[in-house]
Amino acid sequence: MGRPHRFHVDLPLTPGAGSVVTLASPIAHQVARVLRMRSGDVIHLFDGKGGEWRAFIQIGGGNAATATLDTFLADPTPVGSVVLCLGLLKGEKFDWVIQKSTELGIAHIVPMVTERSLPGSGRPDRWHRIAVEASEQSGRTTIPEITPPMPLRDALNFQPNQSDPARRLICWEDERTVPFLAPVRLARGTGTPVFLYVGPEGGFSASEVDLAVGSGAQAVSLGSLILRSETAAIAAVTLAMHAI
Ligand code: SAH
Repeated sequence: MGRPHRFHVDLPLTPGAGSVVTLASPIAHQVARVLRMRSGDVIHLFDGKGGEWRAFIQIGGGNAATATLDTFLADPTPVGSVVLCLGLLKGEKFDWVIQKSTELGIAHIVPMVTERSLPGSGRPDRWHRIAVEASEQSGRTTIPEITPPMPLRDALNFQPNQSDPARRLICWEDERTVPFLAPVRLARGTGTPVFLYVGPEGGFSASEVDLAVGSGAQAVSLGSLILRSETAAIAAVTLAMHAI
């Protein structure tokens, strides 16, 4: 048997074994009609706040289904916190980065308005949906938070948990001496969140890099070749997730 299907739902405030959860109609439809599950089959439910429940489903009449929580399961989401701040890209490229970085375990995504980013306010509802689907698919039990787009200057000061100092790295193709992993390794095991700044298709301007460095970020290189933004973003997230 394959892995149980996983669904992101609202769980009761204090979920416990035996709690009955009514499945909203899109999920009930998916379970009963699309997957053709039967009463007694096992699914996994998570609410995005950490942790996951194994549950048994009961198919009712029409399109109704409920699930009875059974056992609480450990949380496989990586604990190290990586935040990706990425200049706004064309829609489908930004969507792709959200999906892939969610699979890799990113904690936060900050879309950035920069000098050369594409104009537009982004698509927060669509981004959230992509992050939920990628979380369901990848086994993680938390949904990465995606902030509304903000200017680079604000992203450089963004601090989801006020108390944590952060290590901030700006990926810059003209940085020739500092390899990406060196500063990330300093954050290993410290719980310090690592913020990664990646520019849009046209890159960061020199004054933006100056602004970042002036506010405490470190410029780092992802190698001697020029990567597209989405490649740079995924390479940086992958390296950081494994190094901290
Ligand atoms: N300046 C170029 C390329 C921008 S690449 C241009 O004008 O077209 C887009 C983004 O990817 C950059 O802003 C940077 O954050 C990141 N990037 C690409 N290649 C990189 C490298 N070798 N090292 C570090 N960052 C890189």
